Amino acid sequence: GLSLRGVAKAFGERSVLHALDLEIPAGQFVALIGASGVGKSTLLRIVAGLEPLTSGRVELRSRSPAPDIRMMFQEDRLMPWRSVLRNVTLGLRGRDDDARRLLAAVGLAGRDNDYPVVLSGGQRQRVALARALIHEPELLLLDEPFGALDAITRASMQLLLEGLLARRPRTVLLVTHDVEEALILADRVLLMRDGRVARDLSIDRERPRHRGDPELAALKEEL
Ligand code: ATP
Ligand code: MG
Repeated sequence: GLSLRGVAKAFGERSVLHALDLEIPAGQFVALIGASGVGKSTLLRIVAGLEPLTSGRVELRSRSPAPDIRMMFQEDRLMPWRSVLRNVTLGLRGRDDDARRLLAAVGLAGRDNDYPVVLSGGQRQRVALARALIHEPELLLLDEPFGALDAITRASMQLLLEGLLARRPRTVLLVTHDVEEALILADRVLLMRDGRVARDLSIDRERPRHRGDPELAALKEEL
């Protein structure tokens, strides 16, 4: 699991995160929502080790000695000069078959030798997802991964992610502006406000919330 203790972050004089505490059990899918500028990306970057924190501690407890963390962003960050296959295998040797299997799993069978420029935005995000998953990361950090996609493509990407995680569950921290997306995908929704977790809502999979749910309406109201 992932454990954050008293995580604080300031950029110069501006304090963004104030002593944030958070426990995420292994295998939980957590959606992080909150107004623009509240510090969601900063938090993800801190967890990924891409951003130093001002104080506090981040711990990823794992059975593996060197647990892998992968991050996916709103933009695909693919390398345009590399083929689809080589974007997925990036830095990995002898994994071409795994990469092809993953590409097929994300709906891109037979596109191995294409270059990112000929793919649609949704297809490029599929490559980015395959590139993250080939590492079998213990923790998957998703920063608005479908935020730039149209509604229909976004819905199919949500289904794809759900399917891939059902086969192989892992801990996920998803930042999204889309409360419905949080509802569809997550076991737990955190609302960030004023550098803290202001709401911590468990999604009961037995009694899934629907679009008109008063609790969700209240969450949206707070955004
Ligand atoms: P959005 O929903 O718009 O993506 P966010 O919740 O992800 O917003 P962050 O990108 O984490 O917000 O930014 C939180 C705050 O930290 C903002 O006020 C931003 O200006 C500030 N900030 C982020 N990165 C830096 C940086 N490298 N230097 C200075 N300030 C920064
Ligand atoms: Mg952000």
